[in-house]
Amino acid sequence: MRVAIVGTGVAGLTCAHLLHPEHEITVFESSARPGGHAHTIDVREGGRAHAVDTGFIVYNERNYPIFSSLLRELGVATRPSDMSFAVSDETAGIEWRGSSPASIFAQPANLARPAFLRMLRDVTRFNRAARELLEHGADLDYTLAEFLADGRWSKGFHDWYLIPMGSAIWSADPAVFTDFPAVAFARFFFNHGLLGLGDRPQWRTILGGSQTYVRAILEPLGERVRLDTSVTRVQRTSGGVELATSRGELEPFDHVVIATHSDQALAMLDEPTDDEREILGAIKYRANTATVHTDDALLPTRPRARASWNWRQGRNGAPPTLTYDLSRLQGIASTRPICLTLNGLDAVRPEHVVETMVYEHPVYNVEAMKAQRRHAEIDGRRGVSFAGAYWGYGFHEDGARSAVEVARRLGASWVKEQL
Ligand SMILES: Cc1cc2nc3c(=O)[nH]c(=O)nc-3n(C[C@H](O)[C@H](O)[C@H](O)COP(=O)(O)OP(=O)(O)OC[C@H]3O[C@@H](n4cnc5c(N)ncnc54)[C@H](O)[C@@H]3O)c2cc1C
Repeated sequence: MRVAIVGTGVAGLTCAHLLHPEHEITVFESSARPGGHAHTIDVREGGRAHAVDTGFIVYNERNYPIFSSLLRELGVATRPSDMSFAVSDETAGIEWRGSSPASIFAQPANLARPAFLRMLRDVTRFNRAARELLEHGADLDYTLAEFLADGRWSKGFHDWYLIPMGSAIWSADPAVFTDFPAVAFARFFFNHGLLGLGDRPQWRTILGGSQTYVRAILEPLGERVRLDTSVTRVQRTSGGVELATSRGELEPFDHVVIATHSDQALAMLDEPTDDEREILGAIKYRANTATVHTDDALLPTRPRARASWNWRQGRNGAPPTLTYDLSRLQGIASTRPICLTLNGLDAVRPEHVVETMVYEHPVYNVEAMKAQRRHAEIDGRRGVSFAGAYWGYGFHEDGARSAVEVARRLGASWVKEQL
């Protein structure tokens, strides 16, 4: 069968890897660089170049079984990572890191701060309440905002724990993050060992950066991958599907896997059905500016309070920033920490900026999660399948899993042998 795959993020790459042994595939990528959010750049320091991941960074074997088996099969080497989280609130004068009692009280004054101690009690209460929510079940319509209103949680719990953690994990707008369905939030926290101590998976990063696995998948595909070639239109015909590209080509295929974001998928469909419009249109994206830099002023002031993920609420209602310490996450021995800050370009001293890019993340709310449940209504119909991390929680495993579902339907032997 002639199969076109649109996009070379983890979803498109996994599709290509699984389908190329059995089908005649062609992969289209609008960018000159393959990988989508798997994006490694070289950061130079003295005579050395550090391979730094700016999009996808970490995974773990427990929550990423498909992606992990892919890495094992490709022979890609990985290393353990440090997944700590810190919060600073400059107005309240709070800094803390949630790794150990010593780091929770990295700022000794917190021991005598009732609002901080109440937050810690509320975290324990929340862990219990979230488990109960999962046991008793809840409707997808029941949002985190309603859950919070029902539980009389403290402001400290809201400002220094729940909103920083949730908005950081999903690169979400903190102002609307509580639109997230409560039960889906609780399930994610439970699955990732975030509802208590001692059950955390070991997170890992890829040696040499995510580009290592991207190259390993692309290597056997050769000329079947067309970079710098946008698919501009996907049209169903009586004999299959026809693709138009930015290079002016018009090519027929038996099947097309659109492995882009939902909004991009909808935009390229010629005459989308009502279901496609409703479902793909309900899963929206938000653009985030990502700045790679070496400005340690974006990290907490106390070294003991510094973590791999650092949430900072500035003064006078300035929008919060999230700074990943990539050196710590990837085990890079750089002289200054190499960091990535989301949505804080103005806060980074210009002399420390290395590169700025924009990434889009899915926005999760009730409407989006209800649309995900209707995936089967549009998937694989009339020669078009849809893959992408947006069908799950937005992470690498979700992208890989969506690709496996497509490949299973198209008869890929990998799925039978490996899963
Ligand atoms: C800063 C950041 C940090 C992250 N950290 C992690 C992490 O540590 N762990 C984790 O699991 N996830 C992380 N993620 C989430 C990440 O988004 C997903 O894991 C995943 O990489 C998304 O894959 P995807 O294939 O769905 O989309 P993408 O990777 O975005 O791929 C879509 C591809 O389609 C191409 N495309 C779009 N339109 C067209 C067209 N018309 N024609 C041809 N090609 C087209 C795009 O150029 C792109 O290459 C992070 C994301 C960001 C931005």
